[in-house]
Amino acid sequence: MYYGTYSYAMDVHVTTLVSKAKKIFHSDLNLAIETCLEAVNFSREKEMPYETAYALVYYATFLSEKTNDFIILEHILEAISIAKNIENDSLLLLCLIKRGRIYLRLGDLDKSLNAYRVALDAGLAYKNEEDLSEIYFGIGTIFSYKENDQESLFYFEKGREIAKKFNNLYVEVKILNNTGCSYHYLGDLDKAEKYLNECTVLCREHNYFNILINALDELGLICKKRGRGNPVEIWNEALTYSRKRGQTIYSVGPLLNLATYYYEKKEWKEADKYLQKAKEVSEKAGSKTDQVEIYKLETRLYESRGDFKSALNSNKMYSKLWNEIQNQESVRDLKKKELELLTETRDKILSLSKVGRLITSTLDLETVLSRSFINLKEIFNFSILGIAQYNEKTGEILFELSIEEQKIQPKYKTTIDTPNSLAAWAIRNDQKIIISDFEKQSFQFIPPGSKFVSIPSDSKKNPRSVIYNPLKIGDHIIGVITIQSYDLDAFTKSDTDSFDIFSSYVAIALNNALQTEKIKAQNTELSKLATTDSLTGLHNRRAFFKTLNQFSSLAKRNGFPISFIMIDVDFFKKINDRYGHPAGDYILKEIAGILLSFAKREYDDSARLGGEEFGIFLGDTDSTGAVSIAEEIRKSIEEYDFSFDNASIPVTASLGVVTRSIWDDYTFDPGRLINEADKRLYMAKNSGRNCVMSIELA
Ligand code: GH3
Ligand code: MG
Ligand code: MG
Repeated sequence: MYYGTYSYAMDVHVTTLVSKAKKIFHSDLNLAIETCLEAVNFSREKEMPYETAYALVYYATFLSEKTNDFIILEHILEAISIAKNIENDSLLLLCLIKRGRIYLRLGDLDKSLNAYRVALDAGLAYKNEEDLSEIYFGIGTIFSYKENDQESLFYFEKGREIAKKFNNLYVEVKILNNTGCSYHYLGDLDKAEKYLNECTVLCREHNYFNILINALDELGLICKKRGRGNPVEIWNEALTYSRKRGQTIYSVGPLLNLATYYYEKKEWKEADKYLQKAKEVSEKAGSKTDQVEIYKLETRLYESRGDFKSALNSNKMYSKLWNEIQNQESVRDLKKKELELLTETRDKILSLSKVGRLITSTLDLETVLSRSFINLKEIFNFSILGIAQYNEKTGEILFELSIEEQKIQPKYKTTIDTPNSLAAWAIRNDQKIIISDFEKQSFQFIPPGSKFVSIPSDSKKNPRSVIYNPLKIGDHIIGVITIQSYDLDAFTKSDTDSFDIFSSYVAIALNNALQTEKIKAQNTELSKLATTDSLTGLHNRRAFFKTLNQFSSLAKRNGFPISFIMIDVDFFKKINDRYGHPAGDYILKEIAGILLSFAKREYDDSARLGGEEFGIFLGDTDSTGAVSIAEEIRKSIEEYDFSFDNASIPVTASLGVVTRSIWDDYTFDPGRLINEADKRLYMAKNSGRNCVMSIELA
């Protein structure tokens, strides 16, 4: 093949092929079909969904002029499914229009009308006026098949206006042809001829052979009715175009008309000649409805000729085919239903895997829940949805998300041992619950007479169809999900199957989200542990030195003074000995509270440096300020009422203060700051304790 030699992109290759097919379709149907098939195969092979659907639509449409095979329907439904999946509105609209066309070709007028109406809604919704002309044409044609020609003329007129406005000549010509036919049926031969003649002029000009054959066929009939001119010439012209286009179903019309014409003129031989040709073409195309007409005429022809044996044979064929059509119609209906079911299922599976991807692609619990809800709504029709997580340790079942008729309900909790909770039952028994008639079936799961514990409800209506699925990861049940409906038998087997798949996705998503939350919580806990002292809640030594470093360099950069106070409880060993270790712990906690009240500003920090030793860092505080704060702390501790186990415990502390306010050429060393403070503290201890010693570093 010549794919490789094309220098342009692959998608252009496909659209070029389809455009070519669209151009030649009127004059060479077979080549058009072949070209489209090539485009379909190419885009399928290259996995280009848009191009595949686009080529498929036209392939199916063109094929429908050649055969009545059901495969056409399958092609168009596949194209629709692809268009939906890639969310391409204009492609979808095109598919919907052609679906109407194909149903019409297959003779299912109701389906066709329905399809066109859906297309009409879509066309109006997408504000795509141009495509409406073809839709109106289709709807008009259905009405003419239904022998409602007034109605069909109305739609043809609307369609023609739009086709003219957008220069859509092909649709305009099709409409001219059908308008002419409608006037013919209504008995207005003048108008019919006017439209059909206008149509044939344009058809000849633009090689619209397909339409031309139809128009000529109809003009021949009018000519015959009027008794003016020669209809045979007209029908023969139609046959010439039919041969040119590749002998399609279209030629059966003129052939049958010619046969009837000669039959009526009692020219048996000529009549038979055209009849046999018509038979040949219709057999090839597999068009049984045409064949029935042909055998009917053949029977009459042989009878008139007195050949009763042949007439009997023809009549047998006629009855046989007539019966076959009846059977075919019922099989056809069944096949159609099957096909539609398959498409529905395929659509559902596509949506499900899309939803699966969506909800498992986030680690955030809220997002998982809201995405689950929005997407589930697209797949099933339900009134109530609930998703709960189950805590194996506590036995709690917490409904994180409950929705009733679009309204989010408050979270609620139940427990695994609640006897009248279906959620609890499903988890306890590790089994799903499917109820299609609540009143009759719920007794299997909850004690009779007891009220069913369920999602908080505003409506006070009782759900009648109920499904509960345990959410499992491996052997672990991590939650439960429910959908419910107020209708009886609301969920089909295919619904419950899809819901199983959906539940598995939710289980994975929920588990991811819960694990992530757990890890997040653990991390926060860990970092807290790493920086705080568990007894007092103050920063620990490590964290304190980190902030000390940060604040000091900030102070150095900005040239403001810093002070550091070291506090050590006096005779703490004795306090422990006398009042007990718990009393000692209590005192440390209270002192931490006192220190916190003194280190409140942005660049202040307090910490427990170890044992009964504390530190306070004061940013932007000079020596005088620091000493007075130290003095206040000392006094606060001395005067504080430490009471433990009915004992009032006197406590004092000694404090060492160091301040640095001049930063010139000074390399900051926090170790030195601590050492100097430690020295002052030692001095305070030696000076009788319960006092403050300080130094200002130069
Ligand atoms: P000084 O006035 O010279 O500081 O005497 P001191 O007894 O306070 O000093 P020393 O360092 O000899 O004793 C400190 C005591 O603090 C020893 C230890 O048992 C106690 N201690 C350290 N950490 C804790 C704690 O977390 N809780 C309790 N209750 N006591 C602690
Ligand atoms: Mg000490
Ligand atoms: Mg001490």
